Amino acid sequence: MMINIAMVGHIDHGKSTLIGRLLYDTNSLPEGKIEEIERTCKELGRKLEFAYVCDALEEERKNQMTIETSQTFLSTKKREYAIIDAPGHKEFLKNMVTGASQADAAILIVDAKEGVQEQTKRHAYILKLLGIPQVIVVINKMDLIDYRKEGFQKLKENVTSFLGKTGIKPLHIIPISAYNGDNVVNKSERMKWYNGPTVVEALDMLKEEKHFFDFRFAVQDEYFIEGREIYVGNILSGSVKKGEIVKYYPGGENVKIEKILSFKEELETAEAPQAIGLLTDKELKRGVILAKNSSPIVTRKLSPLVFCLIENLKEGEEYTLRCTTQEANFKIDKILEKIDVETLEKITNVKELRETEIGKLQISLEKPVVVEKFNTLKELGRFVILKDGKIIAGGIVT
Ligand code: GDP
Repeated sequence: MMINIAMVGHIDHGKSTLIGRLLYDTNSLPEGKIEEIERTCKELGRKLEFAYVCDALEEERKNQMTIETSQTFLSTKKREYAIIDAPGHKEFLKNMVTGASQADAAILIVDAKEGVQEQTKRHAYILKLLGIPQVIVVINKMDLIDYRKEGFQKLKENVTSFLGKTGIKPLHIIPISAYNGDNVVNKSERMKWYNGPTVVEALDMLKEEKHFFDFRFAVQDEYFIEGREIYVGNILSGSVKKGEIVKYYPGGENVKIEKILSFKEELETAEAPQAIGLLTDKELKRGVILAKNSSPIVTRKLSPLVFCLIENLKEGEEYTLRCTTQEANFKIDKILEKIDVETLEKITNVKELRETEIGKLQISLEKPVVVEKFNTLKELGRFVILKDGKIIAGGIVT
């Protein structure tokens, strides 16, 4: 199983360098890449900079597609990781809430000289809001404080105390030098006083995310083949068998799964995240959710956390919510609170949320939607908010 890791922290604290170092020391780089970068550095008369490794990989990807968050793949002896690098606060939020990328765990990087800064706080808080439970903190650039234990201890206390306020308990706090490779993959000879894990050891100790196993399927489209309707879509979680009785939501009525198709082939069973076609004994519509075992949340009222990406969200105004293939108009009854991402203060009596602001809303939908809490099942726990057909915000069901 692949684990997705978000690399977060204040600008210039060493995210790219750490990714480059991780790739280099675990031999995860594509063949020929490192030689090419070494050559370039030599030509420029510079020392090999690991941040270039990332930049070079980035260039390649940019030629292939437009991306706002980049992913790099890392393999250790134990398993594979996709490292999600978030170039900015907004891109990170957007990708997390719209599902372009989703992290199972995070590495929060803090510069040993600068300590906790504004983006360190913002990112930490977002990790908490998104319910990313596993956070590894690295104190980078230990070389700048002469690899001293006392300096590290002080920073460790600061970070622990700040994170405590957000409700995050870091799994490990690791002193490293991404630049020199101390405690990233190889144990540092210069910090013998540290006896915790290296970054890679800490990654390999992460628990694989507990997945939700109950069957959930979102009907995306219907097709007619040989006079019969076939409902296609993605299995969001769990599995389904031919002949089984499941329920459809909203409504909760029984539906029999008569056939499961994958292209033209018939299947006996299928599981997440397969895209399949279903033949059923009842007519289904786009946007319907099929479920088994437990029931999803069906509601016309929600109090979600929302992230304003572009344009403002105003109390009393109408918008459209899109969650998987469901769409429903809604009104913001109330902005319950705005969250100050620097002080973590909750501000009430707010009438609108502006670009990049985070808050909690109370909304009324024109018709019931089928959702799950974000922590239970991300695919059904997150949604986007549209105005005039444009995505302007994202939200999660809490
Ligand atoms: P990002 O903005 O968080 O991705 O930061 P970068 O990886 O681009 O690093 C910012 C600067 O810090 C670069 O000049 C790096 O060479 C430098 N840097 C990164 N890690 C270390 C380190 O361990 N020690 C020192 N002295 N400098 C570092």
